[in-house]
Amino acid sequence: MAKLYFYYSAMNAGKSSTLLQSAYNYKERGMDTLMFVAALDDRYETGKITSRIGLQANAVIFDGHFDFFEYTANALKENPNIACIFVDDAHFLCKHHVEQLSRITVFLKRPVLAYGLRSDFRGELFPATQYLLAWAEELVEIKTICHCGRKATMNMRIDEQGRPVKSGEQIEVGGNERYISVCREHFLLGDSGGGFRFAEIEDKDREGNQKT
Ligand SMILES: [Zn+2]
Repeated sequence: MAKLYFYYSAMNAGKSSTLLQSAYNYKERGMDTLMFVAALDDRYETGKITSRIGLQANAVIFDGHFDFFEYTANALKENPNIACIFVDDAHFLCKHHVEQLSRITVFLKRPVLAYGLRSDFRGELFPATQYLLAWAEELVEIKTICHCGRKATMNMRIDEQGRPVKSGEQIEVGGNERYISVCREHFLLGDSGGGFRFAEIEDKDREGNQKT
């Protein structure tokens, strides 16, 4: 049976680069692939998987209504040479998408490689990540490092001033917030490496409140 793989990591670990490299390996061996990317990813051009180191490839856009199984079944009728399915931004999938991807491995007999974040900036799983962790046969961590040099496993949302943000919506579309990956200690301290920590920000807020 073909397998469902979940390649997970914190932000900026090179998930898209790893995906594009793997897809290229298929191409080099004369096999075709299908690539999918989330519709709400507006960092770069839509319909493209783009990595920070400059690699890119065209991809089919998915949203909540997209049916991975139906699309892949039709694509395979046209081109039986499609050997592997790649999904970028897999944390943006819905539960029913994860079921569809699982069905692709069983009934269409093609491996599915999904690449996504393990947790959000609050340390909570994404709904899709919960099911990918539960359903994938192969869990592969893509490693990256914190500003302290240790393995980064958590994601921190920071505002325009570089201050860590503790609360808000799980997905900010079109916001000015950025994300950095940190180790668990620096996640708990709210230390982005930019000179701010939760405790210091709270102290400053308190001082500010006392003056007014
Ligand atoms: Zn750290």
